[in-house]
Amino acid sequence: MQYKSTRNKSLSVSAAQAIKTGLSAEGGLFVPDSIPSVSLQTIDEMSEMTYNERAYTILKEFLTDYTEEELLHCINSAYTKEKFETANIAPVYKLNNSQYFLELWHGPTCAFKDMALQILPHLLTTAMKKTNEDNEVIILVATSGDTGKAALEGFRDVDGTRIIVFYPSDGVSEIQKLQMVTQEGNNVSVAAVNGNFDDAQNGVKKIFTDDVYKSTLANNRYKLSSANSINWGRLVPQIVYYFSAYADMLKGNEINLGDKINIVVPTGNFGNILAAYYAKKMGLPVAKLICASNKNNVLTDFINTGVYDKTREFYTTISPSMDILISSNLERFLFDISNGDDTLVASLMKELNENGKYEIGQVLKSRISELFFAGCCDDEKTKATINKCKSDFGYVIDTHTAVAKAVHDEYIEKTGDMTKTVIASTASPFKFNESVLIALGGCEAVVGKDEFTLLDELSVQSGMSIPKSLADLKNKNRIFDLVCEKEQMQQIVSDFLNI
Ligand SMILES: *Cc1c(COP(=O)(O)O)cnc(C)c1O
Repeated sequence: MQYKSTRNKSLSVSAAQAIKTGLSAEGGLFVPDSIPSVSLQTIDEMSEMTYNERAYTILKEFLTDYTEEELLHCINSAYTKEKFETANIAPVYKLNNSQYFLELWHGPTCAFKDMALQILPHLLTTAMKKTNEDNEVIILVATSGDTGKAALEGFRDVDGTRIIVFYPSDGVSEIQKLQMVTQEGNNVSVAAVNGNFDDAQNGVKKIFTDDVYKSTLANNRYKLSSANSINWGRLVPQIVYYFSAYADMLKGNEINLGDKINIVVPTGNFGNILAAYYAKKMGLPVAKLICASNKNNVLTDFINTGVYDKTREFYTTISPSMDILISSNLERFLFDISNGDDTLVASLMKELNENGKYEIGQVLKSRISELFFAGCCDDEKTKATINKCKSDFGYVIDTHTAVAKAVHDEYIEKTGDMTKTVIASTASPFKFNESVLIALGGCEAVVGKDEFTLLDELSVQSGMSIPKSLADLKNKNRIFDLVCEKEQMQQIVSDFLNI
């Protein structure tokens, strides 16, 4: 299978090249030139497979230039019992007769980004070998929280790579900061940047676009790369778990082969829900895709009106990983539903860039409303949903997952559709312990308590044990206390690389 760009469909590169390059030269995203299909019989067979075998079944359809041995090596290095606290990797939890949580947070950083960032480094280093690239890869990340830690854990001690993460000194939660400053591994570095997320991100972008600096790096046999969610190597592993959830429901006799399910995804960059859309297109029996947003509801408006408008107020919410106004993976979806109209996609993206908004035509609008339901939920409702889910079912969910549950509850109310539904559960409640405890017990529940007391309390209230990686933070050494100004970021990179 070859890959083309959403803004240039005459391009044709291998999966390895697409993963190595990340973004296409004219600014488009790489997409497969066709979507493979998976038969019901194969889906039936998947119900008897391990997660890793399921991953192989799906990935081999897309990464056709990787050998079986290479793919198995990537998969088996990523999804191990040392790294995931559950043998199933991505288990399904039945809440009631219509709602099933797909728990995607049993990996080392307790959020769903591990599902892709554990395997991406292996897909990338394999791609480097396959394309005869012998420079060392330097991964640069600016993070507002979840991605940085997940990337650090994914790339730590992976041969042929080094990773540097910059986070805003006043922009991440205490737990997230602790997770990063205690990072272990022989090829990692972490620095705080004085400022907000935009400062950190602009600093990284500046390094990426500095040709003089890039040639200095090349002379030292280093090649810059990024681990953000536009890389095809981050998207494709996400398709796997939707098949896996269906296979588990089959195995548990919750559904019969061929029964359609709905899928709800708490959405930010549109990556996770795009993976569910691809799964549906491949033949997974899915009826509705339900896109859930927080108060930053640019996608809700887009799906309901056809107008994408990012010129609006930005809100900081208790589901911070969804605080996004430009959902970059939407570009891949637009390309697909317009039957590969690269001219249209390029012009919409130009409009977005120049005017901050665009509108699609009637034909595309109706295709989208057939596929999707979209809704949103503010912080108050998020908290109320966490509280009610606990009191009704004794099950504690995190703030992002609660947005998805709230939107699905609203969907049922509006439509009466009781189809069995998989809700992507994207983070462990322990990762957002403070907001979750406030939702359960009010603001008084957290005053004056440190992170570890909060973890203990949440454990008591939820009846779940604290994920080992979070409990262990207490005994870890702070390794990276480096704080820099945004003008110093390039120097930090040079120091790390000894150039
Ligand atoms: C990143 C993230 C999301 C949003 O996922 P997208 O693929 O960007 O739509 C939702 N929940 C959590 C916990 C996340 O970390």
